[in-house]
Amino acid sequence: TDLSALILDRIRDVPDYPKPGVLFKDISPLLADHAAFAAVVDEVAGWHPADKIVGIEARGFILAAPVAYRAGAGFVPVRKKGKLPSETLEESYDLEYGSATIEVHRDAFNQGDRVLIVDDVLATGGTAEATVELVRRAGAEVVGVAMLMELAFLKGRERLTGVDLRSLVIV
Ligand code: 5GP
Repeated sequence: TDLSALILDRIRDVPDYPKPGVLFKDISPLLADHAAFAAVVDEVAGWHPADKIVGIEARGFILAAPVAYRAGAGFVPVRKKGKLPSETLEESYDLEYGSATIEVHRDAFNQGDRVLIVDDVLATGGTAEATVELVRRAGAEVVGVAMLMELAFLKGRERLTGVDLRSLVIV
């Protein structure tokens, strides 16, 4: 579609970042382009009715906050362990080397809130899977996961079975 072409044209491939052998998808050129950024925000905001939009630290925040504003929903941050000030729920997941832990405030949602999770890139799917689990444990309903870009060869989608996952660009 026109939107995926617009996005694809504004994502820069950075070789060997953050380590040798990784081709990093840099969304900075997209964010710097008002028309493209606005088109992405409008598209995601119009997808599913939601009470809360969850953004995953850190690039997910950049996308999720304007989506929340546009959708007339609240914004909830999911952060790396140790960054949220009040009582949290946490979820750990495996990385290629070691593991990571993310958190959400225990009182972030009202029971039954409809939640749309937003992040920039779906890679192995570990982060998104852990976020879905956190939101559910916090008493809310995940109505969808929206990604700017999905790296299909990493098969992250397979970790999100039963979740409505939509990626604006799949490569
Ligand atoms: P996963 O848990 O799916 O393996 O990794 C997804 C998380 O890592 C997302 O929060 C995403 O921001 C980040 N990530 C992994 N690879 C890339 C990439 O190539 N580009 C960007 N922008 N983020 C990435």
